[in-house]
Amino acid sequence: MLMASQLIQFTDRGLYCSAGNFYIDPWKPVDKAVITHAHSDHARPGSKAYLCHHFTKPLLELRLGDYPIESLEWNEPVWLDGVKVSLHPAGHIIGSSQVRVEYKGEVWVVSGDYKTEDDGISGQFEPVQCDTFITESTFGLPIYKWKPQAEIFSNIGNWIRENHEAGKTSILMAYSLGKAQRLLPCIEATGLPIFLHGAVYNVHQTLVNAGWKLPFAERVAQDTPKELYKGNVVIAPGSADGTPWIKKFSPFNVGVCSGWMQVRGNRRRRNADAGFALSDHADWDGLLQAIKATGAQKVFVTHGFQSAFSRYLNELGIESAEVKTEYGTEDEETSEIKQADGPEGIEAEAPESEGEQINNGENNL
Ligand SMILES: [Zn+2]
Ligand SMILES: [Zn+2]
Repeated sequence: MLMASQLIQFTDRGLYCSAGNFYIDPWKPVDKAVITHAHSDHARPGSKAYLCHHFTKPLLELRLGDYPIESLEWNEPVWLDGVKVSLHPAGHIIGSSQVRVEYKGEVWVVSGDYKTEDDGISGQFEPVQCDTFITESTFGLPIYKWKPQAEIFSNIGNWIRENHEAGKTSILMAYSLGKAQRLLPCIEATGLPIFLHGAVYNVHQTLVNAGWKLPFAERVAQDTPKELYKGNVVIAPGSADGTPWIKKFSPFNVGVCSGWMQVRGNRRRRNADAGFALSDHADWDGLLQAIKATGAQKVFVTHGFQSAFSRYLNELGIESAEVKTEYGTEDEETSEIKQADGPEGIEAEAPESEGEQINNGENNL
């Protein structure tokens, strides 16, 4: 691999475009960082300047604090040292973007994290034509095949209603940024009051302050009378499971919302009463469909099942190589737990991350 001649190079700080002198989702501080989305493994503090989508900006401010952050609309080009850069919907979470980089007629696209199904809140994934595509591979195995969101939402709604009739609180475990907002319309349809863990509430309130019209939900507060939770719904990050915080909702049932719930055994391992395979990442078919739609001659595969997935692409005749990155290695919830200040903020207890689960022995083709 001739690294230096590539439009985007793989360095120990992150994906680097030397012609434009910027990095995309760097994992170490740099001068100029273009950010695909606000999850903590892609958006890290310490860089001198950030560029992201308008919707990502308030989330970056919440996550990173006070940094110079410029933002763009989708499809609005900017030139960084003569390199044309634009953002395109990735459909992963609110504001998530693919980064298109064009220089001297050559086009590369960095996907960040993405999903191809339109979830109604994250923007519809846009296939972008390119010469080289850098794709994630979180669920890059054929066993990962999602049901349509409407079907999963209907299952979640039924589960909530059953719990309600049994006088139990439904606790949905979901990432604070992305999954939690995506679930709100589904829960709102049950007509039951919604309560949010502090970490989820911080993201919720940031988005509401930025003008998002999200269904009404209340923060779980220390002085909220316990009877108010009875038979209703709570959204909490997965790391709240098994903590003293959760006991106040008793009696309750726990439902985990994660693509990993597709694999038998993971629900048991998580000690959940219900598992819903709802993911913010593309499934096997979604990845292949997205990659083919780019028309790319060369595909680099990052975090997930990168070696199996890139082998498969080569078998299909799409030239592919895996790339080591530091994405997916940091739990997307970890930084949120730190921000969940106040007495209901929970102790971080080695939460199960998507990145960690990849190595849990489920990765046999
Ligand atoms: Zn992400
Ligand atoms: Zn990621």
